[in-house]
Amino acid sequence: MRPARAVHVLAVTLALAITFPRAAGAQADTHAPRFAVTAAHLIDGRSPAPRGRVWVLISGDTIEAVRASAPAGVPVVDLGNATLLPGLIDCHTHLSARVGLPRLEAFRSTAARAAIAGVNNCRQALSAGFTTCRDVGGAELVDVGLRDAINAGEIEGPRMLVATWALTATGGHGDPLNAVSYHWCNDLMSGVADGVDEVRKKVRFNIQQGADLIKILATGGVLSPRDDPQHTSYSLEEMKAAVEEARRLGRFVAAHTHGKQGVIWASEAGVRSVEHASYMDDEAARVLKKNGTYYIPTLYVVEPILDPGNPLKIEAENLAKAREVRRHMRGAFRAALRAGVKIAFGTDAGVFPHGTQTREFKIYVEEGMTPIQAIQSATRVAAECIGWEKKVGTVEPGRYADLVAVRGDPIADITELERVPWVMKGGKVFKNELTR
Ligand SMILES: [Zn+2]
Repeated sequence: MRPARAVHVLAVTLALAITFPRAAGAQADTHAPRFAVTAAHLIDGRSPAPRGRVWVLISGDTIEAVRASAPAGVPVVDLGNATLLPGLIDCHTHLSARVGLPRLEAFRSTAARAAIAGVNNCRQALSAGFTTCRDVGGAELVDVGLRDAINAGEIEGPRMLVATWALTATGGHGDPLNAVSYHWCNDLMSGVADGVDEVRKKVRFNIQQGADLIKILATGGVLSPRDDPQHTSYSLEEMKAAVEEARRLGRFVAAHTHGKQGVIWASEAGVRSVEHASYMDDEAARVLKKNGTYYIPTLYVVEPILDPGNPLKIEAENLAKAREVRRHMRGAFRAALRAGVKIAFGTDAGVFPHGTQTREFKIYVEEGMTPIQAIQSATRVAAECIGWEKKVGTVEPGRYADLVAVRGDPIADITELERVPWVMKGGKVFKNELTR
């Protein structure tokens, strides 16, 4: 990443657009710069196959039109033989996380330190092509701070939806006091909430503090001590209370799940998405299909966790859980695919370095998705999952001008998405390495 270069490219683009004459009669903001981006191929996020050359007419931060011929009177950014796609969306990130932080070290870490790491994480995610990230659990409102700083133009990063504290039962996956001696267990700000009333109160509190969505930890997890991924952490009643309260306040709920019972209960409770769902079988997948629940696979995350040499410095008991979960995750993905469950791209980036989560695409294709399905999971389907289908996820009029381009054909080789050389967010070029 070269921030100075990105700024330079942006300045050139805007200067071009501003000094060029505008077409008359545009309905968009007449002060907004208008220009077009063209490339030999377009994957628009909706069509079942790639399209040929189009000109994407952009007004300010928004796509005004997609045309088959060059629009008159506006400057054109020509990306040559590249393939243009909608900006990518990751539905499961932790942008305020410090990667590879040992458990003891985490106790010494501060919110300020996490915010500094977060600034870099956001730039890395955007540089890899992720123009939108749903962030599903941070602490101390670092996620809210990152989101607001990005929206204010103070730092570079994806559009963010944030969950603030993930709701967890006492002893659950997100309880920071798991395995800590009770002598030290005083009041501590966390997502811990037990029982229907506490769950409702925590949902209200998170929204008061800036949450765009609610995350619940419905089962045990992998990277926490004492809890078991196969156990449910919340009762069906508690999950229903979270969903009802969030829905009343206009928010979706995302549910961390591994065990089958937790997957089924979360779906029956009405959550928008189940994350991981590692032990989902055909029966559980049919429940998701019936309820219209989205499934966020996060298949890549166990690979860096289990890399030889333990680069992420994971504790032995958590490595054992990761090995067990890995034996089931891809089977869950295939069950979802068979049942026709809506699958939205999500990775758990933050456990491993942001920007490398594009490696998730290859696994989806290995496990039976077509390349176009895999791309749509991270564009149109992901946008629908987060409720932003009118804003992002497709190259269509009215959507934000969030675009990425790749050099080769991602239908022939899905790993082209691991090497995104050109990124535009809201009509501004953030990265331009296409000519190299
Ligand atoms: Zn996660």
